Amino acid sequence: MKFYVLTIFPELFLPFREYGVVGRAIQKGVLCAETINIRDFALDKHKTTDDRPYGGGCGMVFKPEPLAKAIAYAKDRSRSAKTILLSPQGRRFNHEIARELAGAEDLILVCGRYEGIDERVCQLYIDDEISIGDYILSGGEIAAMVVIDAVARWVEGILGKTESAEKESFAEGLLEHSHYTRPRRFGEIDVPDVLISGDHEKIRRWRMKSSMIRTLLKRTDLLQEKRLSIDEIDILKELHRDIENIIRDQGLCSADPSSCGQ
Ligand code: SAM
Repeated sequence: MKFYVLTIFPELFLPFREYGVVGRAIQKGVLCAETINIRDFALDKHKTTDDRPYGGGCGMVFKPEPLAKAIAYAKDRSRSAKTILLSPQGRRFNHEIARELAGAEDLILVCGRYEGIDERVCQLYIDDEISIGDYILSGGEIAAMVVIDAVARWVEGILGKTESAEKESFAEGLLEHSHYTRPRRFGEIDVPDVLISGDHEKIRRWRMKSSMIRTLLKRTDLLQEKRLSIDEIDILKELHRDIENIIRDQGLCSADPSSCGQ
């Protein structure tokens, strides 16, 4: 998969392209993240990419000509590429959009700056707008890195096992279970026995329960939206019974403290 990133700060992508999952994928040749410097397409000798807004007001606006030329240059390299503008006004980026974009062959990512880009560029050249959240960044570069990283995880051959992406939080509508590694005791807390039991079925069930508990506590909205499996419903019932028992025992305690050894 190939990303063409249009930016006035290509240097920001240098370390990003060298390290971690993205860096390895680029070295293996499974992923390409080419930066195109929009300034190279500026019309004047000062390489100007911004200008004052019509109608007055504060801030500057990304000039249309260098952007349009940079997009045309990227399109010449890949006719089928979809052009996406990183924008706080776009579709809110999430797990599903990352998966959807991973299905595309090539993507052109346009990083805005200043107060944003001239509206006519949006109308003429932009196929989609993506926001990475309801806050304002100074430029689209960090947002583009977020999109490339999250999308790359879904491209075949990039993660060690394709399975890893499918087991992570959100992939199955739940948060992922908790993780442990050596040592077995840390900060007076032991690794749960079941994880060292070697019993794969028990481990699978424990992980499913851990995932349900985490989702229930941290992101109840995900549980409400998910179509639960029979196993998952059983776990919720089990948790419900546990909570009812605790409440019942606490009720008995407050009614008759002697029955709780107080
Ligand atoms: N004036 C614009 C507005 O209020 O909608 C914000 C412009 S922002 C300072 C400059 C550029 O940063 C934007 O054109 C966009 O490319 C990028 N940007 C800022 N926030 C973003 C976000 N939440 N998601 C994606 N890109 C963002």
